[in-house]
Amino acid sequence: MGAAAAAEAVGEHLEARPEDDGAVTHFFAARHGGYRGWQWSVTIACADAESPITISEVVLLPGDDALVAPCWVPWDERVRPGDLGVGDLLPAPVDDPRLVPGYVGSDDPAVEEVAREVGLGRRTVLSREGREAAATRWTDGAHGPHADMARAAPAHCGTCGFLLPVAGALRGAFGVCGNAYSPADGAVVAVAFGCGAHSDVVIGGAPLTVGELVYDDGVELEPAGART
Ligand code: SF4
Repeated sequence: MGAAAAAEAVGEHLEARPEDDGAVTHFFAARHGGYRGWQWSVTIACADAESPITISEVVLLPGDDALVAPCWVPWDERVRPGDLGVGDLLPAPVDDPRLVPGYVGSDDPAVEEVAREVGLGRRTVLSREGREAAATRWTDGAHGPHADMARAAPAHCGTCGFLLPVAGALRGAFGVCGNAYSPADGAVVAVAFGCGAHSDVVIGGAPLTVGELVYDDGVELEPAGART
């Protein structure tokens, strides 16, 4: 930075704070682009009346309304659902509460039964906490019972021939939609979700209740000759 540019980077004097008997820090507004609210902090010191004044430190410090970078967050806490891209690897944390060792027991009778019968098992399985978290997400999501599509549907997924129930403890509550014409095709749906492509919908006999057609053009007619 040239001398002229350096001089322009320092703004008006803001305040002076004594550090001790021989040192004081002066604060100046910073004029650097991108450093709104920052201040130059210049600490000067003098040993005694005969000694020269020396500059101990010059630093840029953020003021109360400074524009600063957000606090650093470890990468594994920054990753959000949906961030995983093609080829990315995302190992589960060592003590991930959503998983338990498969041999300890899954807390899922259906999984336990199959694992015992076949003598095989996965290294880890979803814990009760992991299953409950998934169930809550799916229930509150776009294919849950509160979605607009579900509220307008003629019937629920639980009675639909296109529903493929999931295995395990969540079987009674969720399935995968297997209807190519449904917006939920290939997605996990709650049994209380539903759409207009339900397998029981019949052309000409749809169970949807439609009100009588009302025509209103907004024009109020007056009898001829009513105006004088
Ligand atoms: S077609 Fe519609 S009602 Fe049937 S399972 Fe799929 S989303 Fe549910």
